[in-house]
Amino acid sequence: MTLPPEINSPVTERVSVVVVGAGPAGLTVGNILRAAGVDCVVLERETRAFIEHRPRAGVIEEWAVRALDRRGLATPLLARAERHTACAFRFEGEQHRLDYHALTGSHHYVYPQPLLVTDLVREYADVRGGDIRFGVRDVTPHDVESDHPAVSYTCPDTGRRRLLHCDFVAGCDGARGATRAALPAGRVRTARHDYGIGWLALLAEAPPSADCVLFGVHPDGFAGQMPRSPEVTRYYLQCPPGDSPDAWPDDRIWDRLHRRLAASGTAPLTEGRLVEKRILDMHDYVVEPMTVGRLLLAGDAAHLVAPIAAKGMNLALHDAFLLGDALTARLAGADPDGTALTDYSPTCLRRVWDYQEFSQWLSEVYHGAAAGDPFRTGTSLARLRRLFTSPRAAAAFAEQYLGTAGRY
Ligand SMILES: Cc1cc2nc3c(=O)[nH]c(=O)nc-3n(C[C@H](O)[C@H](O)[C@H](O)COP(=O)(O)OP(=O)(O)OC[C@H]3O[C@@H](n4cnc5c(N)ncnc54)[C@H](O)[C@@H]3O)c2cc1C
Repeated sequence: MTLPPEINSPVTERVSVVVVGAGPAGLTVGNILRAAGVDCVVLERETRAFIEHRPRAGVIEEWAVRALDRRGLATPLLARAERHTACAFRFEGEQHRLDYHALTGSHHYVYPQPLLVTDLVREYADVRGGDIRFGVRDVTPHDVESDHPAVSYTCPDTGRRRLLHCDFVAGCDGARGATRAALPAGRVRTARHDYGIGWLALLAEAPPSADCVLFGVHPDGFAGQMPRSPEVTRYYLQCPPGDSPDAWPDDRIWDRLHRRLAASGTAPLTEGRLVEKRILDMHDYVVEPMTVGRLLLAGDAAHLVAPIAAKGMNLALHDAFLLGDALTARLAGADPDGTALTDYSPTCLRRVWDYQEFSQWLSEVYHGAAAGDPFRTGTSLARLRRLFTSPRAAAAFAEQYLGTAGRY
């Protein structure tokens, strides 16, 4: 093994799987391995308290919750999450409700990502006795194309380098992690898409203004409302890419939200203290293949999908189920040839590309009317009207929004 000189004499250990990153993907993989008795270590850069409070997603697809439940990972979620059966588009001053449960029989769960992460950490570390190391620094994968990969990191307590020899590395460290950056040059292709717009992502300490997700399509720009809990609501406002949250004092935010989400016969928005203001430059990427040698990427490490259709965490969970099961089968002896590991990347990527395409389609619905181009305004409004004039178009939308296609 070729190690950099500064880790010539690290503290070494041996483990079957090193999981880098304790987000939804990494914690789900860790829990699956742990339940099957496969030894693993989860390495996380942040503290436990930090990851248990980091706000992000909230909308989880029903199939994903069922898959968590089959693995014993959804008990608190099923007790506390809200079920959502409809969403509403507001455009041209009117509200149009789309009851996707009536169209498909499926629904969404709304459960804040920090709560899911808290549940998964507790199950992995406190219930299943899994090894998770918080606050690690300078995580570096080594020799991933060999049969004896390893991961080194700096221990936060001692400042010493540690080296974990392993059979496989699961790269679940999100969009800015170390594992994707460590992929050997020329072995993967990264496809990127930049929407050329920004979203101001907001969290308000206020009850939701409606009982369902609202999409406001307005000539000034998109606005969205996503209930998170009875006390907290996420809002989005389209803004220029690279904009600064400082350009958005609270008065301006509420003024734009009221204007862009206005619709006759609906209650005014419920205002509250804004506890998060963050600019997202909307872009996507997909790494193909998602595996190189014994390094297997999952979740945002492998593919980022802008939060247009609330798909990123759902894809992360889908990857994690397949990866956890495939690693278990390979390491516990049910699949000694590793067929499921070979199938892992192509199987994930079919759903990934389907969700990317839907997000891109939906982006034009949200943003076309504000593009300053009358042709795009006309076609994006036509897409919207079709959802409320053609039951088949509405059903196709519902299937994609819920991720319920029989096969990807
Ligand atoms: C505002 C917003 C709203 C969203 N809403 C939704 C939604 O409603 N539904 C949905 O499905 N998705 C949504 N998403 C997307 C979703 O949050 C992500 O897709 C999801 O977090 C991906 O999970 P992950 O486990 O792959 O990565 P992450 O959650 O990013 O976890 C990666 C972990 O790795 C750690 N890490 C990073 N680098 C290192 C390193 N070098 N060493 C060790 N650890 C490291 C990080 O600290 C983190 O804990 C939203 C995203 C945003 C930003």
